[in-house]
Amino acid sequence: MRKKTRRVRVGRVEIGGDAPISVQSMTKCDTRDVPEVLRQIRALAEAGCDIVRVAVPNEEAAAALRDICRESALPVVADIHFDYRLALKALEAGVDKLRLNPGNIGARWKIETVVREAKARGVPIRIGVNAGSLEKDILEKYGYPTPEGMVESALRHAAILEDLDFRDIVISVKASNVPTMIRAYRLLSEKVDYPLHLGVTEAGTTFSGTVKSAVGIGSLLADGIGDTIRVSLATDPVEEVRVGWEILRSLGLRTRGVNIVACPSCGRVQIDLVKVAEEVEKRLGHIDVPLNVAVMGCVVNGPGEAREADVALFGGKGVGMLVVDGEPVRRTTEEEMVDALVQKVEEMAAELRAA
Ligand code: SF4
Repeated sequence: MRKKTRRVRVGRVEIGGDAPISVQSMTKCDTRDVPEVLRQIRALAEAGCDIVRVAVPNEEAAAALRDICRESALPVVADIHFDYRLALKALEAGVDKLRLNPGNIGARWKIETVVREAKARGVPIRIGVNAGSLEKDILEKYGYPTPEGMVESALRHAAILEDLDFRDIVISVKASNVPTMIRAYRLLSEKVDYPLHLGVTEAGTTFSGTVKSAVGIGSLLADGIGDTIRVSLATDPVEEVRVGWEILRSLGLRTRGVNIVACPSCGRVQIDLVKVAEEVEKRLGHIDVPLNVAVMGCVVNGPGEAREADVALFGGKGVGMLVVDGEPVRRTTEEEMVDALVQKVEEMAAELRAA
């Protein structure tokens, strides 16, 4: 059962409570390059991203936010470290959320100013604790970045905001070490009812980062912990969104687009199953309505899976059988089988959209 958390609003997207678990990503170009930022945001939106974050390292980046926020297809989060003036500029520019740690901003009056302006605009703040940048005294107390230390840091930042009667808070306690991250979120979830933003930080390249994120984020979500997720990968941010959606889909938490079941292939296969499955996945990436598609190598498990799927294909000796709603509808050659399946899925998606 999902843990009940407070609900905050990030532009038109809600985080927490019973709002759908949102998928976030981050632009990966110089924020001053507004056309490129907007291009990346459009690509992320098409891939199903709900909320986008942009780094705001300097005044020029903060100045670019006005155009970015005006044109963005997604709610925008400004990622700010240390400088309260950048936070104020971001708020003036119309950002929908701030990611900043109030304990790192300095004098109390600076925090008060930012909090007052955020509150006036209904803009929430994410406290983002990272195992790699814990406060010195906490590191000294625990010896190394422990889950307990990370949670202590998060609660310390949250207390500053609570003291100013600000509760539109989201918290993350990310680590690159998956067990540390899992324990930190579990501990935090016992202590607060703020919505939690899940992520494995510096997760790595597409392969290792996907596995680490699926294990870390997936374990927590399976326990009912987490309200929004960000998969961090050292690659195109669109991949982060694809992986994020696959995590949610695999746990049955949200549906969007095609859920592909494919057999791993074996010595019985008589078509190039691996190539067919990869091509099907690639060519159905644009479908945004939920559909189950099965690609099976042979008749051993093919018909069974095909009955469970909306559209399925199973291979024979150089041929494929297209199955729709459990009924065989068409025999195709190996060359035509992907085209036939894609065409059928597109037709069904169009019907579903029109319904
Ligand atoms: Fe092998 Fe057929 Fe099973 Fe695929 S469906 S793994 S080809 S037995």
